[in-house]
Amino acid sequence: MIVFLAIANLFWLITLISWTFIIIKGPGKLPLKILPYDLSYFVRNGESFGNSKDSNSTESFDMLTSLSSSTHVLNTNTISPPEMFECDFNGLPYWCFQCSSLKPLRSHHSSVTNTCIPMFDHFCTFVGFTIGKDNFYSFISFVLSMEILLLFTCITIIIYSGIKNQLHSALIVFIICTGILAILVGNLFLNLIYDLKKGETNIESMGKKRWIKDIKINESSIYSNFINVQHPNNPKLRLIVKLSPMDRPYDKGFWNNLLLWNTDFNKFTSSIEISEFQNSMFSNQFKKNIMDRIDHGDYVVFGSQTKLMSVKL
Ligand SMILES: [Zn+2]
Repeated sequence: MIVFLAIANLFWLITLISWTFIIIKGPGKLPLKILPYDLSYFVRNGESFGNSKDSNSTESFDMLTSLSSSTHVLNTNTISPPEMFECDFNGLPYWCFQCSSLKPLRSHHSSVTNTCIPMFDHFCTFVGFTIGKDNFYSFISFVLSMEILLLFTCITIIIYSGIKNQLHSALIVFIICTGILAILVGNLFLNLIYDLKKGETNIESMGKKRWIKDIKINESSIYSNFINVQHPNNPKLRLIVKLSPMDRPYDKGFWNNLLLWNTDFNKFTSSIEISEFQNSMFSNQFKKNIMDRIDHGDYVVFGSQTKLMSVKL
């Protein structure tokens, strides 16, 4: 009995400490306001390009070579766009009006903390707090230690009651309640591991579920995701590639996905540094998939009249 109490209290202590760290650390926030990308040059060139999608055709090739050769002068208070970034169906990056900042690093604006949180995971009603980049490891520790505590308590009481032959009604109710809680917390933990395996945050995973459900009704789902990518052969053009719900842009394998949460985003001192890091978050496999789609003509030129505009709002 003493050993049982010692082990149970140890995991109870770890659970409490983890919960305290979730609150103290907080979900994190963007280290600075991220300047917008200067895309005007590519929009102008895209407009010149028109509706043609086949960059290998003679007509398209002539169009590419006839594009303005003037030097691109960067507007002040903007930065050059990275090779690849997440965008809306028009090819524009996501902007946070509350923070007056771009939303890189897979960030989302939290109405609870009123800031953009990098690697925003979810608001956990169980913990009563927002989970993001800074407190994600504490959240894993909290869920895992609680699950061990619940399973250990449940199993030990069943075994102990069996030995003593004292399984009275109050204990049965306690075991049922603990068991149900263990199933719920266990399910939460398995979801966490599954999202890590896919290289997705919880909010990204939930978005994909809505997307898959919606795409069965309407192919141009409002939940569709897009990538704005530099044209592989022409530096004057950028392309918009529509993603599939099966794409895993940030999946670099379980351990790399787990270690990504350990990145110190506060080390970034400029918008360009953050932009470059954002670009490096995409996996090589994903970049290859995008280039394969471009090779097959599965893209729209950024700035041209796009069919993607038909996506309903
Ligand atoms: Zn924001």
